[in-house]
Amino acid sequence: MTHTLPKLPYAMNALEPHISERTLEFHYGKHHQAYVDNLNKFVKDTDLENKTLVEVIRASAGKSDMVPIFNNAAQVWNHTFYWHSMSPDGGGMPSGKLLEMLLASFGDLAKFEEQFKQAAISQFGSGWAWLVYEDGALKVTKTSNAETPLTGKQKPLLTCDVWEHAYYLDYQNRRPDYVGTFFGHLANWDFAAANLEDALKG
Ligand code: FE
Repeated sequence: MTHTLPKLPYAMNALEPHISERTLEFHYGKHHQAYVDNLNKFVKDTDLENKTLVEVIRASAGKSDMVPIFNNAAQVWNHTFYWHSMSPDGGGMPSGKLLEMLLASFGDLAKFEEQFKQAAISQFGSGWAWLVYEDGALKVTKTSNAETPLTGKQKPLLTCDVWEHAYYLDYQNRRPDYVGTFFGHLANWDFAAANLEDALKG
């Protein structure tokens, strides 16, 4: 199969003033597109050519001879998940089962917020901060470069891209400001809640 760039779930300028149209033109239009193009190039004429994106990620994870395939496939998936992890109407309060499980797992929302921001800020170099479901609880985790919880037993609920390309045009070196804005104005709790519902179904 040929992998394609999924459509953004909102207009390129929809996240302004928090994330600029110019950032999305580069981040979605150039970086995400390049991962898709590279993936198609690297799987061509290999056993993975006809596999789905998730199958490619799982088959190439941890294989030293498939690093370029894994990196590009995982980045295609991570970025699509990240676009959906944000909304022009984001931020605010989680509700329902998600809120209930956040409280049970972290004690209170402030502790969850602190852990999530800390994971995003402390990831050294490029990577991702995640809210995940694992073994009946919610956890915060971080991954470096293209690594994704999808290769283990954790079920991703929400992610924040902390590669510099995600924020440098708008925030320069101020990653904490970007992460604070992500959490306060963009985080799509409805998306996280829907992912939790799927995870609980097994
Ligand atoms: Fe990115």
